[in-house]
Amino acid sequence: GGNALDILELRKVNKRFGGVHAIKELDLTVTQGTVHGLIGPNGSGKTTTFNVISGVFPPTDGQIFFGGRDITGLPAYEIARLGISRTFQIPKVMGRMSVLDNVMCGYFAKTKTEAADTFLHAPFRASRQERAMRERAMEQLAFVGLERSAGRWARDLAWADQHLLQIARALATGPKLLLLDEPTAGMGAEESARLEALIRQIKEQGTSIILIAHDVKLVTRSSDVVTAIEFGAKIAEGLPEEVKNHPKVVEAYLGT
Ligand code: ADP
Repeated sequence: GGNALDILELRKVNKRFGGVHAIKELDLTVTQGTVHGLIGPNGSGKTTTFNVISGVFPPTDGQIFFGGRDITGLPAYEIARLGISRTFQIPKVMGRMSVLDNVMCGYFAKTKTEAADTFLHAPFRASRQERAMRERAMEQLAFVGLERSAGRWARDLAWADQHLLQIARALATGPKLLLLDEPTAGMGAEESARLEALIRQIKEQGTSIILIAHDVKLVTRSSDVVTAIEFGAKIAEGLPEEVKNHPKVVEAYLGT
């Protein structure tokens, strides 16, 4: 990558699905320690951008650098291990597992080989490691305010709490970059405000964030820089207030 302070850099990234050109020549630079907002109308390519960054599928062309390292085309588990984790617009939790175990899975996802090895070959060390993981998972749950739900089945959580659980699980891996896809989807005003405060705290802990949200006010308040896209291409970028009022952005949102 270019600047050492840039944690993530997309260079001329394209993604095509057959005839659909979902991302077009997208350049995106995320500075370490910042919240970077990503806005755009429905179908503009926001989630696809997260998918190419996190390795769900490779970009059709272009390059992606993370911490100066070319991660283009790496499998998702490897990208996760390097320090990028994400949440989903429709919370992906394991419904028939406890809330605590869901967070521990996040931890396993990162150390799979190591942990599996330990369990197979050194049961004594495994239990110690498991205890440490459990403690850490409880800390993550406390951080998002779900410690009292640790023993419940994930599927019994309210929608907003499932969003919070995804965040706890993503944070369990100790990511350097967190991708939040519509973290306030389906939330009321109070829950959204809580989430906004949480985003601030995650940033204060030094984790960089890319935030996708329909709620332009939330993005404006939370972000240091905002990139707006439409039909997969960048239409504006800069300080949140500037981007929000940019004629192309205003126009893009009028149609929705
Ligand atoms: P947004 O997140 O901004 O709403 P998406 O990234 O989900 O937009 O979608 C961008 C475009 O790419 C849409 O036209 C969508 O239908 C298409 N698309 C996204 N994912 C796929 C896929 N896996 N296969 C085919 N088309 C897709």
